[in-house]
Amino acid sequence: MTQSVAFIGLGAMGYRMAAHLPKYFEKVYVWNRNFSKAEQHATEYGTTAVELTQAVQADVIFSCLPTSEDVEALIDGLEIKSGSIWIDCTSGVPEAARRLAEKLKAQNVDFLDAPVSGQTVGAENATLTVMVGGDVDAFERAYPAMAAVGKLIQHVGESGAGFAVKAINNMLLAVNLWSVAEGFSTLKAHGVNLDAALNCINASSGKSLVTETIFPQRVLSREFSVTFGLPLLAKDTGIALDLVKDAKLPAPILSLTQSLIQAANLTAEPNSDFSAAVKMYESWTKITLK
Ligand code: NDP
Repeated sequence: MTQSVAFIGLGAMGYRMAAHLPKYFEKVYVWNRNFSKAEQHATEYGTTAVELTQAVQADVIFSCLPTSEDVEALIDGLEIKSGSIWIDCTSGVPEAARRLAEKLKAQNVDFLDAPVSGQTVGAENATLTVMVGGDVDAFERAYPAMAAVGKLIQHVGESGAGFAVKAINNMLLAVNLWSVAEGFSTLKAHGVNLDAALNCINASSGKSLVTETIFPQRVLSREFSVTFGLPLLAKDTGIALDLVKDAKLPAPILSLTQSLIQAANLTAEPNSDFSAAVKMYESWTKITLK
């Protein structure tokens, strides 16, 4: 029975995800590297801001950091409560999940790779998709905690499988973002009204998350509101391409998209949203998507 839950990493996603936990669990601990964010969370949502060493004494421990490297460095040397479950919601590297699951087993701790999808709005509304790799029994025990932050909680396989699904998901997002930029630039070059085109496509077979929300809300509006950093998307496409290489498969579209997103990340202004990747294409075509 889960008595206490902790959340480590109160960034754009974690801050919002952790806000749901006090509705379901009596003791909710939060920790963040910049500790004032943990204190602010405690004031706002009735959680308890604690030191990291105390946070890892909870029955269920969530983490949501930028990379697997950050999670491995954080866990190194920590004494975690025996019998607890660590749910890592970072979009991470499958190999790191397998390493951590093995390492934490020695402390009698289950590790689940449980990355999420649904953007900050999904974190805010607890409608995230949670894709989980790891031990099935641990998954079942951790289910109520994950259900507090998500809508679809799906076990997808052994350790690392959750991170793999997430990386491919985000690669598909990147492919779509880039191809919508090419398609809409072409339409603009032919004098078509982009809002009208968007209305048609969103009622047709070419629609996607990008055409339904990202393009109208961030690109055509020129807002590029920062909720999911371009460096994070570049990281995810890199993880996906490593998976392709490991499987020794040809993947021309995914390889090219990874290069395009890496280049866009290198040339973008600091702190850009992922949607700002289209600005690199605009600089080639001299067509502004608005
Ligand atoms: P943010 O950059 O907003 O937040 C990162 C968090 O990690 C902050 O709390 C930061 O602390 C902390 N952190 C960074 N480095 C370290 C470290 N070395 N040690 C300890 N804490 C650290 O990221 P997001 O919340 O956007 O993303 C988190 C994860 O979720 C990523 O893997 C991302 O790919 C994934 N994701 C993001 C989505 C989004 O829409 N934003 C959607 C789905 C998944 P501090 O405040 O001190 O800097």
